[in-house]
Amino acid sequence: MGKITGFKEIERKNEASISTKERVKNYFEFNLPLKISEIEQQGSRCMDCGIPFCHSGCPLGNLIPDFNDMVHKGNWKKALEILHATNNFPEFTGRLCPAPCEQACVLGIIKPPITIEQIEKYIVEKGFSEGWIKAQPPKIRTNKTIAIIGSGPAGLATAQQLNRAGHLVSVFERDDAIGGLLRYGIPNFKLEKKIIDRRIAILKKEGIKFYTNTNIGVNYSIKKLDTYDAIVLCGGATQRRTIPVQGINSKGVVQAMTFLKQQNKRNSDVNFNEEDIVATNKNVIVIGGGDTGSDCIGTANRQGAKTVTNFEIMPKPPVERCETTPWPFWPLKLKTTSSHEEGCNRNWLISTKEFIADENGILKALKTVKVEWIYESGERPKLKEIKGTEKIWPCELVLLALGFTGPEATLSKQLGLELDERSNYKATEYQTNIPKIFTAGDMRRGQSLIVWAISEGREAARKVDEYLMGFSNLPTKGNGDLPKL
Ligand SMILES: Cc1cc2nc3c(=O)[nH]c(=O)nc-3n(C[C@H](O)[C@H](O)[C@H](O)COP(=O)(O)OP(=O)(O)OC[C@H]3O[C@@H](n4cnc5c(N)ncnc54)[C@H](O)[C@@H]3O)c2cc1C
Repeated sequence: MGKITGFKEIERKNEASISTKERVKNYFEFNLPLKISEIEQQGSRCMDCGIPFCHSGCPLGNLIPDFNDMVHKGNWKKALEILHATNNFPEFTGRLCPAPCEQACVLGIIKPPITIEQIEKYIVEKGFSEGWIKAQPPKIRTNKTIAIIGSGPAGLATAQQLNRAGHLVSVFERDDAIGGLLRYGIPNFKLEKKIIDRRIAILKKEGIKFYTNTNIGVNYSIKKLDTYDAIVLCGGATQRRTIPVQGINSKGVVQAMTFLKQQNKRNSDVNFNEEDIVATNKNVIVIGGGDTGSDCIGTANRQGAKTVTNFEIMPKPPVERCETTPWPFWPLKLKTTSSHEEGCNRNWLISTKEFIADENGILKALKTVKVEWIYESGERPKLKEIKGTEKIWPCELVLLALGFTGPEATLSKQLGLELDERSNYKATEYQTNIPKIFTAGDMRRGQSLIVWAISEGREAARKVDEYLMGFSNLPTKGNGDLPKL
């Protein structure tokens, strides 16, 4: 497997990026490609490590050492087949995954881990550029019909797997375009939308039907789906969290998703029937230190914000992996994204007290207070304000990037579906309390990651196939139709 001394001889090499000053002038992806020979060298760093912990680090169970080895040997086509065997959409995860596999990489104990995510992106991009990625419609149709609600990564993975099993699959999406948060949440500088379009074109050729502007339970009755043999709910976790303090309804206090969606639509020349919300020439405050907050920072800088300030209520994480999250676990440590690098003032242990508006209700400042977390054994940590630390921050735009409390309840109410204790759609092995209705992705597990959405979509598809046919030939996690090596 691989070049046995590769990890000793070759250092980890990441793609470089266009300078922060230049890249904020537009919304394009900004990494500078490495040479194919450099990626092949990176593949050779993969050790013959006996137990590849990267497999279990990856929610898809990707066969990482196998594709690394093929890349090292220059057999890119086989590498692609291995990658596609467990992952329907490596072009999304190869750009956007936080790469838990790399945190579990055995080499990571002593040296920087293998560039697994980057290698994945190069494999799939080579696959597209060489024309190796083609529609593969099923040879036999079962004539069983399946409706999938929601076209995010969970819905798309479910659709492709069930279509491969020969079923007739229709995907219903309430937005005007397919892709879920990939399309209208994640900014173009992280994922250009042509990357989604080329995959959708393949799914369409494979026979999957897509219906946009179809809001099931709102402008299209769920009853109309009664004729389908199975329904899979992949509606995401879209309930936005808010801060119930004075002034929350001031003009200029905006949910992050409203702001991000508008910019994604502008980038795609799609009209929206709302007042424009832009950061141009404004002092912008982003509340929330996660992925959504980071995407708001990158977007605000591209729009020409005067200043960008970020608040997080949790303490600043350590720069290195902390003791409570040792290898091979996902580490608790400070994350500095490309958007943070582009410029923002980051603050931790800050809580919002009040949004201050003028007499017309227009936001003019934010009042904050410093906080500390009190840890007492056996109790949940408690938040305590530190007296005398209130501060007023003049601002004209505040973006609430506070995460999501769970899925919307429209469909669960109309269908009589049970929810779990975190208000997610409850399912046993992806099947809800109504046998022909299944659920996957953020709608079932709560706000999560793309790699989990794809994994859930694949798993749910197998369960639906078993329900319809009594058995399934769709692969289990970490197993796909592997090429002969
Ligand atoms: C701003 C932002 C940035 C993120 N960045 C990253 C990242 O960098 N890396 C990463 O791994 N994860 C990231 N995530 C998380 C990731 O996007 C989600 O975990 C993932 O998209 C969930 O996939 P899903 O298919 O379950 O749901 P979604 O992607 O949310 O898709 C659900 C779809 O269902 C549709 N829908 C809902 N109800 C109905 C209905 N009744 N009828 C018809 N359609 C309906 C919605 O319109 C939506 O298109 C980010 C999330 C956000 C918000």
